[in-house]
Amino acid sequence: MNLVDKSKKYLWLPFTQMKDYDENPLIIESGKGIKVRDINGKEYYDAFSSVWLNVHGHRKKELDEAIREQLNEIAHSTLLGMTNVPATELAEKLVKIAPDSLSRVFYSDSGAEAVEIAVKMAYQYWQNIGETNKQKFISIKNGYHGDTIGAVSVGAIDIFHKVYGPLMFEGFKTTVPNVYRYPAEDPEKCRDEALDSLESLLKEHHQEIAGLTVESMVQGAGGMIVMPDGYLAGVRELCTKYNVLMIIDEVATGFGRTGKMFACEHEGVEPDLMAAGKGITGGYLPIAITYTTEEIYEAFYDDYTNLKTFFHGHSYTGNQLGCAAALANLKLFEKEHTPQQVAEKSKYLHKLFEEMIDLPHIGDIRQLGFMCGIELVYDKKTKEPFPFERRTAYKASLKMRELGLLTRPTGDVVVFMPPLASTDEDLREMVQIMREAIDSVTTEEALQVAATNS
Ligand code: PLP
Repeated sequence: MNLVDKSKKYLWLPFTQMKDYDENPLIIESGKGIKVRDINGKEYYDAFSSVWLNVHGHRKKELDEAIREQLNEIAHSTLLGMTNVPATELAEKLVKIAPDSLSRVFYSDSGAEAVEIAVKMAYQYWQNIGETNKQKFISIKNGYHGDTIGAVSVGAIDIFHKVYGPLMFEGFKTTVPNVYRYPAEDPEKCRDEALDSLESLLKEHHQEIAGLTVESMVQGAGGMIVMPDGYLAGVRELCTKYNVLMIIDEVATGFGRTGKMFACEHEGVEPDLMAAGKGITGGYLPIAITYTTEEIYEAFYDDYTNLKTFFHGHSYTGNQLGCAAALANLKLFEKEHTPQQVAEKSKYLHKLFEEMIDLPHIGDIRQLGFMCGIELVYDKKTKEPFPFERRTAYKASLKMRELGLLTRPTGDVVVFMPPLASTDEDLREMVQIMREAIDSVTTEEALQVAATNS
């Protein structure tokens, strides 16, 4: 049996309708720099950083060597009740680059776990200090925090989450400030309205609210919704005013992606808990972290018999190979000034987008650093979307694949999240491919929709 047949026979892929995979199988064999190569030798730009992870490109010498060197010592030992060398060194480095409020690092293996841990810590914090009524969470509509039940409970994307309704714990959902879909397209009004509705909720319910979860500056999976200026800072103010812990999710935005080490730095926001993952190892190995303040940490610090311990941990937590890769990654950040470079190159990317926005079926292009979304619409004037069942952005992504570029849309938003090491020339070529694919697919789709409507 060949490899493609084996993949169809034995695998069940994440977040994938397997009927789609069977029609369009793809098996990656290798990668170098910002490109990956399939088993037939065809090369593709990794324009979504292998699901928003990759930083310095594939097979980066320094990262490869750090992992090999660590292998000469040990691959893994547990973090339950003890620690290891790279996990300890890395924790110090991570605290040094974090917002000032955060002083402790708790390791896990994925972004969803990092969020779930933050939620559990926030919940138990109030229990440990005797404020036992504070049990509920507020989250933002259209938010995404990962796929475990806790992370799904604070998420709010119906298409992914609705089916699990009865499994989720109950909470409050507040308005998302989506400027493109806000009637007046006035960012300040849109922001103020969202903050006002959050304040009404807090006013009424703060005594029962443990924490609030929010993606940092950009809702990723929800369609690359860039939040208006002042929104995140406004949420911070309200959390402080109503004594609610602010949990920021930097899983997608952290480690340079938006042109700052962490996106909350754009507004000088200091959270109480913060989840990060993805780019932490340069996109090499599954390490994630939950940051907390000393105040939260101390609420768990007591004699064992008082049962204030955080009873949570995963087998591979603090894995040495991953931590060694993360240390080498942060060294590269220092040497290459990665976030500053992203900030610089994103200005050029913005210009490229300005040249593309005139395409007849691009409604909006949203960008913060290298975190970008291109929203496809049937009618640019009225912002009427393409019919859901036409899967326009998915078809565009297949066309891009044909033209040598990989990405994955979210709804009808084409996601562009290139590796942070992409050069201006790479960006130009990638945008050119996306433009060609979007133009040809949306033109054809619009004709089909018009024919059906008439
Ligand atoms: N939080 C955000 C904002 C994300 O974008 C993601 C994944 O895309 C996650 C959490 C979940 O991370 P993971 O896939 O590593 O579990």
